[in-house]
Formats: sequence, C-alpha cells, structure tokens
Amino acid sequence: MAFKDVDRYTFYAGQPQPTAESSGHFESIDPSNGESTCKIYNSSPKSIDAAIQSAQSAFPSWSSTPPVERARILQRAVALLRKHNDALARVETIDTGKPFSETSTVDIVTGADVLEYFANLVGSGGLNGESFRLRPDAMVYTSKEPLGVCAGIGAWNYPIQIALWKSAPCLAAGNCMVYKPSEFTPLHAEYLAGLYREAGVPDGVFNVVYGAGDVGAYLTKHPTIAKVSFTGQISTGKKVAGAAAGEMKYVTMELGGKSPLVVLPDAAVDQAVDVAMMANFYSTGQVCTNGTRVFVPRAMKTSFERVLVEKMKYVRAGDLFNPATNFGPLSSRVHKDKVISYIKHGVASDKATLLCGGPEPPTGLPAALRDGYWVRPTVFTDCTDDMAIVKDEIFGPVMAILAYDAVDEAVGRANATDMGLAAGVVGRDVDACHGVVARLQAGIAWVNTWGESPAEMAVGGWKQSGVGVENGRKGLESWVRNKSTLVEMGGSVATVFSKL
Ligand code: NDP
Repeated sequence: MAFKDVDRYTFYAGQPQPTAESSGHFESIDPSNGESTCKIYNSSPKSIDAAIQSAQSAFPSWSSTPPVERARILQRAVALLRKHNDALARVETIDTGKPFSETSTVDIVTGADVLEYFANLVGSGGLNGESFRLRPDAMVYTSKEPLGVCAGIGAWNYPIQIALWKSAPCLAAGNCMVYKPSEFTPLHAEYLAGLYREAGVPDGVFNVVYGAGDVGAYLTKHPTIAKVSFTGQISTGKKVAGAAAGEMKYVTMELGGKSPLVVLPDAAVDQAVDVAMMANFYSTGQVCTNGTRVFVPRAMKTSFERVLVEKMKYVRAGDLFNPATNFGPLSSRVHKDKVISYIKHGVASDKATLLCGGPEPPTGLPAALRDGYWVRPTVFTDCTDDMAIVKDEIFGPVMAILAYDAVDEAVGRANATDMGLAAGVVGRDVDACHGVVARLQAGIAWVNTWGESPAEMAVGGWKQSGVGVENGRKGLESWVRNKSTLVEMGGSVATVFSKL
C-alpha cells in the first residue's frame, strides 16, 4: 500500500469512489504549518446511502462467517498495521500535529493492540452464549448476535486509534461499519480501509464517508443504521444520542471531561508533578481524560509549583519529526483560537495566577512552523472552583492548580461537576489512594500514573461524560444483542387450551 496524500473520496465496495456524488470538498490542513495536504470530497446523501448499502450487502456473509475465521482475517490486519506503523504514524503526525515520537509509539501501536485483543477474544469463544437446564425437560440457551450496519463517528484527537477502538469490536462481532472521521483529521480512514481489505476483510464490511456534522447527522438518523458509536463533545453527543434514541438505535457515547487529579499529602512531589504533567501536556492537552483540575495540599503547593516550573523545560515544541520533540501544535486554527481565548479569560476575567505559559505565541520555533497552530503549555495557580478555566473542558495544554486543606474537601470538590470521565490519585499510602478512588465519581481512574488505556481495560464516562464503554470484555458486549431461546423437551405443551 502506498501512503500518499492523495485526495479522498467516499470509500465503499472495497475502494475509493471518485465518481460518487459529492457535496463540495474541503482541504485537509497540516496543523504544524497551516499548509493544505489534500482535498477531501464531502459525501453527499446519495453517496452515504451507497456506503450503507454496501455494508448491508456485506452483512449476511460477514456475520455468518465463524468468529474464528473473522479473527484470522483481523489478525492479518493487525500484522499489516504493525508492518506499516511508521508510515501510518507519519500520516497521523501530518494530520493531527502530534509529534512523530508519540504517533509512532502510541497511536498505531495501541490501535493494533485493540484489534488483536478483540480478534483473540472472538477467536477464543468470546461470543459464546450460555446454556442451562431450566428443569429436567427444558433448557435455555443464549446467543450473542451482531447488530447489523453500525456507524462510527470519530473525534480528531486520536484519529486512527478511535477508528480502531470502534471498528475492531464492531467487525469482530460480525457487524459492518460506516465510519466518519472528523473533518479535521480524515487522512487515516482510507488507509485503514485499504489495510482491512488487504488483510481479507470482504468488500463492504468497512466503509468511509467524509464531511462535517451534517454527514454524521445523516448517518445517525439513517433507518438502516443499527448502532451509533460516537466520540466527541458532550453537546454533540446529546444531539447524536437524541437522534439515535428516536429510532431505538443502540448507542455508545465517549464524551468530554474535566477530570480531577488529587495529590494526597504523603505524595512524593516529584512523582505528583510527573503525573500532573502527563495528565495535562501529553498530546498537547488534547486528551479527553486529561486531569486538568490538579488538587494539591496547601502545605505542598509551593514545592509542587517549584518542581513543576523546573520540569516545564522538558516540554519541547519543534519539528514534529525530530525525535526530541514531545509537544506539537493544536489540531486546527479554530481550536487554537478557542484555547487561547480560555487562557486570556483565565488571566483577565478569572484572575488566576499565571505560573507558566500564557496567550502569547511560543518563541523559538523554526521559521517554517510559525504559521502552525502552536500555543504555550500553560499553568494557572491559585485557582478556585468557580473559574471558567476550572469548570469548562478546554481540551488544550492548560493546567489549573487548586489548593485544598482536607482530603474530604478535595474529594467533594473533585466530584462537583456534571462530568465524570476520569480521575486520579497520587500518594505513597496505596490504601489511602484506593479509599479516595472509591469516592471519586468517574468511569476511569488511575493511581500513581495517568493515561494508560490498554485494550483489556474497559473505559467509559460517568454522568455527562458518556454512555457505555469501549475496550475490555464489556466493550464487545456493546456490539451484540442477546437472544435467549427456551427449548421444551418433554413432548407435551403446557397449554391452557387443552379442554373445554
Ligand atoms: P465534536 O463533537 O465536535 O465532533 C465529533 C464528531 O462528530 C466529528 O466527526 C464531527 O464532525 C461529528 N459531528 C458533529 N456534529 C454532528 C451531528 N450533529 N451528528 C453526528 N455527528 C456530528 O468533537 P471534537 O471532534 O471536537 O472532539 C473533541 C471532543 O471529543 C472533546 O470533548 C473530547 O473530550 C471528546 N473525546 C472523548 C473521548 C472519550 O473516549 N470519552 C476520546 C476523545 C475525544 P466534524 O468535526 O467533522 O464536523
């Protein structure tokens, strides 16, 4: 497979469809320098219908392929993903602005791991139901049936990883998918479709449509779509879930967060700072689970800030293909404007203390990168719970330090939000850490670390942060529906209609 930045067209029936109807096009932009990489043709309703039709035609055969055979095909796709790791990572770097040091070690690697996990799971009985003797002459058996044609709608922060987190369990369970990447990061989708095809996934099982929210909305409402798996903002998720509920479709919603990190009084300051930096500056802060509200004991605040300021020099922006670079630009101009407006709000309206960074453009970047969407990694301190920078999901590299006096108080403040995606605790006394984790309202929690999300670990948000989970055994369950069958073996039917 050649990895060229060629123009993108709706992909169905196993190939890009340049002659399919499109409703205009947009440019895909490299966020490190603001330059166009290629044209993306928006899928028109007619082309989306054709992609859904392609999936529907493929469904009877794919869903009746034995799970172990599907697993073998998907394992070949895993091998191809790993073989092309660096080429795909280059694409993700150009599309998202994430440093190659990150995309080449995380994005494709973890996506392939998830595909391998679900292939292994269905290949080793993960789709088996249960059976039991109800009484001596009757039994019940259950089966896990695929749902049909499913829609995957992705956000722009982990494009190929999100595509794999959705398509891996979807396809492994015997469903077909029509996938819409974010218009900001569409490049991976055609490569993934091509790799699936090369691995032996039949034509029509994985299809791609392109465009903005209207394309996602059309997919969501389409009567043939049985399930919508969505990753994105809470406000969009509410629209998508509402539209899907109106048609009784299954949904999985992976939405935003404003997650707390609670540093306990016995924590090692150095370790706490490392966790806080990973929870705020990895992927330039564009991670749904980021721990942006950092609760620090008042007595530790000065030393925490001193070590943090010292370590901020390890955040290195620059040429994205330089192995030393670990901090990229934001993914789009519109997102950069949003993040900078929050930083300005933090200074001017919230009146938090600016410890590092700020709204000015970063200095020291190579001239070729000056038109990219770069911001400074920023830390505010002396924050209070009512500030906009503390309450709203900024989705950028903006940390808020909140001092506390008692652990119970920190837990209460950490939970005082409508969101509940992730939470974390740092401390030396692991029993105390578990005690705090147990009281934090979040679907994902970390103790003395931040951000690792292996294939085996089911992840999903509480409260407004989502519905359902992805990954782990539970992640497979959300791509199947249950059928329970009761078998009577006694020869006579219990009927009330046997006599006058
Ligand atoms: P958006 O909600 O803006 O968009 C997500 C996807 O939905 C995009 O493909 C978008 O299209 C599409 N879309 C927009 N409107 C509609 C609609 N009415 N119907 C159907 N689809 C629609 O999110 P972002 O792309 O800005 O992603 C960032 C958000 O994602 C953050 O809030 C982050 O927390 C969250 N996120 C959550 C994760 C989780 O696992 N919980 C993981 C990663 C991110 P387009 O953008 O092309 O217009």
